[in-house]
Amino acid sequence: MKTYIFDPISPEALAYARSYLDVVCWDSSEIVNYANAEAVIVRTFKMTPMMIDQMPNLKIIAKHGVGVDNIDIPYAKSKGIRVTNTPTANMNSVAELIIGLAFNCVRRITQSQMAVLNGLEKNSPMYLSGYELAEKTLGLIGIGKIGMSVGKKLHDAFDMKIIAYDPFATTDYCNSLGFAKTESLDELCSKGDIISVSVPLTKETRNMIASREISLMKETAVLINTSRGGIVNEDDLYKALKNHKIFGAALDVFVQEPVRKNHPLLSCDNFIATPHNGANTTDALIRMGIGAVDEIIRLKNGENPLSGL
Ligand code: NAD
Repeated sequence: MKTYIFDPISPEALAYARSYLDVVCWDSSEIVNYANAEAVIVRTFKMTPMMIDQMPNLKIIAKHGVGVDNIDIPYAKSKGIRVTNTPTANMNSVAELIIGLAFNCVRRITQSQMAVLNGLEKNSPMYLSGYELAEKTLGLIGIGKIGMSVGKKLHDAFDMKIIAYDPFATTDYCNSLGFAKTESLDELCSKGDIISVSVPLTKETRNMIASREISLMKETAVLINTSRGGIVNEDDLYKALKNHKIFGAALDVFVQEPVRKNHPLLSCDNFIATPHNGANTTDALIRMGIGAVDEIIRLKNGENPLSGL
């Protein structure tokens, strides 16, 4: 099957694709001959109606990753084109980043590094004092693939108590994971020591965490958002951090990305920024690449892709 790979994928996934498919690579001069494409793999490449119209033989758009906002799904479907993604490939990488950010905030790791680089007169200064995660309460907003994974790891490995706010998860499901379901976001905000957001960006979740929600949090609370920019209100978070209303915060996602270096949040010493790095691991890249290739192979073999959207 003639497969156009528009964005770079891992060498392992590319070798795998080449052994099963007739691959046209992102750096080949042939890549602009869109009309020959029967399958495409995209990461950020935009599959607009105009682009889709240039591929009359296209049967499948395989997204390398989860978010499909770069693909016009209704239009692709109207042309009988399958759209797939790799929903579980990066879950563990994002979960591990959340845990890393939680430790970074409570132990002030980045701030400690800055202090060392700037020169210190004595060890263990009080202003770098942190706290332990053990036996604290982790508040999860959203317990889908990523939230659930974070909760299980921190419960099993660090004896954290897990509370969850997710209107689409039943009490029985929460209990089966060892999590306690909170009926309201306010309750979660007021009880969590670490609060981590793992929900899609929708009209309900935009600005879901703003000044009112932050005002309910403990002074020792840490807020982490790795889901999408705009779910945590950046202006309100900035005011809260400047006034030490909460202990710290970490964002992997911003309203405007890549985050600009003069963003006000970056002036807060109790704030950690990462540049949408959640899935940026060799492991996730291999899983996403091979997962996307496998969906095309399934279609080629007359089977149904696993992740029909
Ligand atoms: P998922 O679909 O498995 O889970 C999302 C959960 O959010 C579901 O359980 C859903 O019930 C819940 N939810 C929806 N609306 C809610 C609301 N109003 N209040 C509370 N809960 C709500 O998704 P996932 O794979 O766990 O991903 C979560 C987020 O992480 C997504 O936004 C995704 O785009 C993002 N993500 C970021 C990166 C990164 O690099 N930073 C990588 C992968 C995914």
